[in-house]
Amino acid sequence: MSDCPCGQGLPYAQCCGLYVEDFEGQPAPDAEALMRSRYSAFVLERDDYLRATWYASKRPSTIRFDPGTKWLGLEVRDFKVLDDTHAEVEFVARQRDKSGRAVRLHERSRFVREDGRWYYVEGDWL
Ligand SMILES: [Zn+2]
Repeated sequence: MSDCPCGQGLPYAQCCGLYVEDFEGQPAPDAEALMRSRYSAFVLERDDYLRATWYASKRPSTIRFDPGTKWLGLEVRDFKVLDDTHAEVEFVARQRDKSGRAVRLHERSRFVREDGRWYYVEGDWL
């Protein structure tokens, strides 16, 4: 069984796969877990999960995956619970685009909880 793309060293099925493969039955327990699972969903090109975990008013109608992009890893820099329904996660995700250029995505993302489930709202590029 392969390691989870998010890099925690666990098999996918015991890590982000818990949430990505069972959106209805197994909500990510906190914003960091949701953020990790969304990174894994980007790697696996699971637009169903990405859309489902995007806050409705901010959700894009389509998600574009750049062909040839290779995701290289995720580093969670900070995870801050602001209150019961708001949290922030700062992360760096690295990828290599199809021309071989290394790209570093550094973002502070905002999450909200509604009806017991966390959603990604939006983020600021850092
Ligand atoms: Zn994972």
